[in-house]
Amino acid sequence: MSLHLETPLVPSRPLSLASGQDVWLKLDALQPCGSFKLRGVGLACQAYARQGKRRFVSSSGGNAGIAVAYAGRCLGLPVTVVVPQTTTERARQLIRQEDAEVIVHGSAWHEANAYAQSLLTDDAAFIHPFDDPLLWQGHASLIDEVVISGFKPDAIVLSVGGGGLLAGVCEGLARNDWADVPVFAVETDGAASLAAAMASKAPTALPAVTSVATSLGAKQVCQQAFELSQQRPIHSHVVTDAQALDACERFLLDHRILVEPACGAALALAYAPSEALKAYQSVLVVVCGGVTATHEQIREWRASC
Ligand SMILES: *Cc1c(COP(=O)(O)O)cnc(C)c1O
Repeated sequence: MSLHLETPLVPSRPLSLASGQDVWLKLDALQPCGSFKLRGVGLACQAYARQGKRRFVSSSGGNAGIAVAYAGRCLGLPVTVVVPQTTTERARQLIRQEDAEVIVHGSAWHEANAYAQSLLTDDAAFIHPFDDPLLWQGHASLIDEVVISGFKPDAIVLSVGGGGLLAGVCEGLARNDWADVPVFAVETDGAASLAAAMASKAPTALPAVTSVATSLGAKQVCQQAFELSQQRPIHSHVVTDAQALDACERFLLDHRILVEPACGAALALAYAPSEALKAYQSVLVVVCGGVTATHEQIREWRASC
């Protein structure tokens, strides 16, 4: 049995009226730990447990770390998440509430990650936030569920951080013979690592991540995401932090669900489609969710950008 839930696929009247298209939402914000991450992380943790691993280590202070903590609790295996001092008290609390051990180490993520790697023993599995074929295989279940529903979208809109969700959705499309469906891959200014790679036609590292959408904050996308962008229809789109934050506010009013700006990025394009997206009649938006930003935080960010 999988650790993630089958999530609702709902037509959105507010988004359809705003964009002039038929907009459908895949509500992965409703996964038990609040984001799509559980699909891939749950499958990876189950696979590593079957291989004999007895504990899990993560260095993500975001939704990936929370999903590993949740998966470990469900499987009865201990989880250690190493986070840098910059990780908010709220995120630490969300990990601890899943009974995982939180170790605070270093002033930046690479120091926390190096320490996490040093904790790996033969019986431990490191769960990467986006770069592992098991994660993509798990994320692909999102598309399987859409296929079973009988609704085939003309285009898909989703957010990109390190590209794990993109790789998983493309795997789901491929394994269901939907490889012709184009994907609109949305990032925020200051976290646009896929846009940079596609512009230079090579994997490219950003000098720094400056967006408030911290869950999109991978300096470089995984190789798989880059290769897909060269092989199948993927449209890169970049929105501002302000547009992503406004989309969070609007979505909260329209659908009563609070999501992170990382998810607001995809919603921003769906509310105000680009010329390229307007060419499609029915659009599926992956509402990837995210639990690390409070409404108060979203308002504060908006006031200062
Ligand atoms: C992780 C995450 C993303 C980005 O996913 P990648 O697989 O890193 O591209 C987007 N939104 C939310 C809420 C996330 O947690």
